[in-house]
Amino acid sequence: MDLTGSCPAIDAHVHFHPDVSELVARVMDENNLEGVVNLGALERLGIPFAEGLRTMRAALGERVVVFATPDFSDVAPGFGQRMADDLDRKVGQGAGGLKIFKELGLRYSDAEGRLIAIDDPRLDPLWAKAGLLGIPVLIHTADPVAFFQPLTPDNERWDELYLHPDWHFGRPEFPGHDSLLDQRNRVIEAHPEVMFIGAHLGNYPENLGYVDQCLGRYPNFYVDLSARIGEIGRHPVAETRAFFLKHQDRILFGTDWVLGWGNFVPGDDAFVDGLPAFRTRYAAYRRFLETDERQIEHPGYPVQGRWKVDAIGLTDEVLSKIYRGNARRLIPTLGHAGV
Ligand SMILES: [Zn+2]
Repeated sequence: MDLTGSCPAIDAHVHFHPDVSELVARVMDENNLEGVVNLGALERLGIPFAEGLRTMRAALGERVVVFATPDFSDVAPGFGQRMADDLDRKVGQGAGGLKIFKELGLRYSDAEGRLIAIDDPRLDPLWAKAGLLGIPVLIHTADPVAFFQPLTPDNERWDELYLHPDWHFGRPEFPGHDSLLDQRNRVIEAHPEVMFIGAHLGNYPENLGYVDQCLGRYPNFYVDLSARIGEIGRHPVAETRAFFLKHQDRILFGTDWVLGWGNFVPGDDAFVDGLPAFRTRYAAYRRFLETDERQIEHPGYPVQGRWKVDAIGLTDEVLSKIYRGNARRLIPTLGHAGV
């Protein structure tokens, strides 16, 4: 089975430096991607929004959509309104949505040094602005449950936490996993006019029942699949498949690669070696979604979990919604991406 030649996909969750846009074009061509959504990269890299977007568009045209992210280093009184104004300006420059990193709730603090809760009312102008502008908000909240548990070799995500000890939140200074999701849910509930995409299967792929409840309760809630096939594919296959069928209109395809900082820097020849790694990764996602194979390696194996998953063999109709249809419906500027 050719796992790159099936339905064209929109990867709704990637992060890349504008200077690697030509390489991204190659990744897209090789992996049958008709669109990518670049989340919060420009602010993270300190690149002016209009300039960064221009560079990306020069290589990728309308195949790229960029989500802006707020500046949480400016937390003097009135920050929510300033974030809203900034979002307004960037959407005027071509931003297609708002990205909220997991640091909201875990690390961003206010001028008094207190953690800013996700549902802090000072952020209300920002959510309201997203609603007025009609753009989606892709929000990453908390992290895998294991990241909030004791950091010992029997932690099931030990391999990854060993590489990234700063991703461990199992200490008293951090809110718990579930309380972070509660904060997020209160925002989703309070702003029904805003479409929220919960990154990483709504950040609770370990508990499909919970995500199912959230999707049932909040019609303005969507989820992406990025970086969590390991958790998703671990449930009994009938249960996972039923979840995907029930919520086939609410799930977006995404993978969460980072290119241009971190592992791959612009101009680094190592990237050329990276192209096969992209093929392997996309093939692993497609294999999970499209085949009925049992006990296969998930895309993050083994660093993101030393267990195997069962593929869920979705139909072409459902695959087309998850790969592209749902993203096109939800992200207005994607409407004319691709061919
Ligand atoms: Zn991400």
